[in-house]
Amino acid sequence: MAQEDDHKRTIVYGDAALKYIRKNILPAYPRFYELWYTYAAGFNHSLNRAVNEIVGAKGTVTTEQLQQIYNSFLSPTKLGDRIDEVGEKISDEIRDMVDMLGQSVESVSEYGQSLEGAQAQLETLQDPQQLKQLVAHLLLATRNTAGSNRQLEGQLIESRRQIEELQESLEAIRYESLTDELTTLSNRRHFDHTIERMVKDASQSQEPLSLLLTDIDHFKKFNDTFGHQTGDQVLRLVALAVKQNVKDHDVACRYGGEEFAILLPHTSLRQAVTVAEHIRRAVLSKELVKRSTGENLGRITISIGVSTFRGDDTPQSMIARADTALYAAKGAGRNLVRCETDPDVEADDTRVA
Ligand code: GH3
Ligand code: MG
Ligand code: MG
Repeated sequence: MAQEDDHKRTIVYGDAALKYIRKNILPAYPRFYELWYTYAAGFNHSLNRAVNEIVGAKGTVTTEQLQQIYNSFLSPTKLGDRIDEVGEKISDEIRDMVDMLGQSVESVSEYGQSLEGAQAQLETLQDPQQLKQLVAHLLLATRNTAGSNRQLEGQLIESRRQIEELQESLEAIRYESLTDELTTLSNRRHFDHTIERMVKDASQSQEPLSLLLTDIDHFKKFNDTFGHQTGDQVLRLVALAVKQNVKDHDVACRYGGEEFAILLPHTSLRQAVTVAEHIRRAVLSKELVKRSTGENLGRITISIGVSTFRGDDTPQSMIARADTALYAAKGAGRNLVRCETDPDVEADDTRVA
């Protein structure tokens, strides 16, 4: 089902992308196709806002404007550039700190030499006047050293502050690269990495691991009736219901347009079905009201498929079984949870490659 669904959905986006290119009389470069495809799919909100602002004001958009939007929101080097920038700043800071420490080592060793010199002089010292001079000299050397230590301390504190700021920038970049903008759940990239790691862990530890795949029921009709933006609000709402019903170590992701995947480590099939039921009911319990007009939009429902790790599983085989279960939930009438051992799911096992 996933493949067929993806085919249908993506063809719609692809057709729309070409229409936009024709309408604005633009070159059909792959990057512009990507931009309009993303626009049609509607999951990159900043991009859609940027396009809408221009089209809203001028009625059309130029090649240069599109190139700018592409650079700001899609260029694959964008995150990479920022990482490089922060990396450079961190190495500058570290270089400054090493220089400062080098200077401090020098001044400490000069001070050591002054002390040794003084000791040698003390052994032969006769005249109290000379002693006075020696003490004055030592006092000056001590003051200088204390002064440069204070300066060093100030510089180190400043460096530490800057490095902490850079660490926060890195953390923000990392968060952004793993998060879905619309729902703030983890994104597909994060899911792909996480399932890979969790499957490996489960096969080594023999601990259970379960997977839920959710899909909103009749969502196309909802979008067609109430508009894509209201549809996006619904996606946020479903994401919230997911978040509120999983634990900290679970990883909830936006798997595709209106599909979510939730990885539940240390969770048996039976427990995972319970979690799925909680999510399904939480979504069902929400009455949808359009914010701008107060219009009641009724309720939406979701279907969920559940699979659990088997010894020889790969991420793909686990996903395929959850997808088969989801398909069975749809077939049995929607607004249902089905797991891989349910009779109507096992009967349809031919779908698993
Ligand atoms: P089914 O019960 O069989 O799942 O019916 P469905 O209409 O939900 O079918 P399908 O799962 O294939 O629907 C996908 C639809 O989800 C297509 C599109 O209208 C909508 N959709 C996908 N991504 C987004 C998105 O990011 N925002 C909005 N608003 N809608 C999306
Ligand atoms: Mg779907
Ligand atoms: Mg759906």
